[in-house]
Amino acid sequence: MPRESLAAKKVRGLEILNRLKLLYPDATCSLDYETTLQLMVATMLAAQCTDERVNKVTPALFKRYPDAAAFASADLEELEGLVKSTGFYRNKAKNIRLACQRIMEVFGGEVPRTMEDLTSLAGVARKTANVVSSNGHGVNLGFTVDTHVTRLMNRMGFTKHQDAVKIERDLMKVFPQAEWENMSIHLIYHGRAICDARKPLCEQCDLFDLCASAGKAYVKPRAVAAKKVTATKKTIAKKSVAKKKTTAKK
Ligand code: SF4
Repeated sequence: MPRESLAAKKVRGLEILNRLKLLYPDATCSLDYETTLQLMVATMLAAQCTDERVNKVTPALFKRYPDAAAFASADLEELEGLVKSTGFYRNKAKNIRLACQRIMEVFGGEVPRTMEDLTSLAGVARKTANVVSSNGHGVNLGFTVDTHVTRLMNRMGFTKHQDAVKIERDLMKVFPQAEWENMSIHLIYHGRAICDARKPLCEQCDLFDLCASAGKAYVKPRAVAAKKVTATKKTIAKKSVAKKKTTAKK
């Protein structure tokens, strides 16, 4: 795709969003929650875990700890037990309790509203803060960037970065603020349904004529295998050099 002006990117971006809205009319945050605090806790649990798994864990969790005060005074071992199946449970339980303690002490029991205050909570980085603010408070502070958004926005030619903060900066320039969370959620749906990490279904993709990687994004299994072999060879070579140096020192 030839070099594209920001204005042209904005037009292309909006057309992509419009088509995605038609494709996934019911796209929404797939975590189950009733309060903004519950959304924050569910989003923290969703790190390195599927939303489906989190949705299995949270009914019992929210029954046991209905609000920030209950989480803040939770017995850590009991809390760990309830979130264990989401992985990294010790860290997650510790951060949830710490975050809720700060919410009680500093923010009067309410989930804060600014990026600075949200990210001052233990275990809450920009991604979680964006999800919570957009879906919980109805304010798009930023653009939620996950693995699907990273892959699709690179493929479609809206960013060249892999770093979430840099990607977010690029996307905030292209898409209107009112659509940031909408776009993110729709990209996640499209990433799951069509634009797979290994085998994107370009021939079936409704964005084919708008995508910078249409028909070129397929990752050959052989290429992946070859990369792995090369990486393994390099590791072995490095280890062998290190071993020789150690032996020479002795
Ligand atoms: S055309 Fe291919 S690479 Fe582009 S969004 Fe569709 S599936 Fe992904």
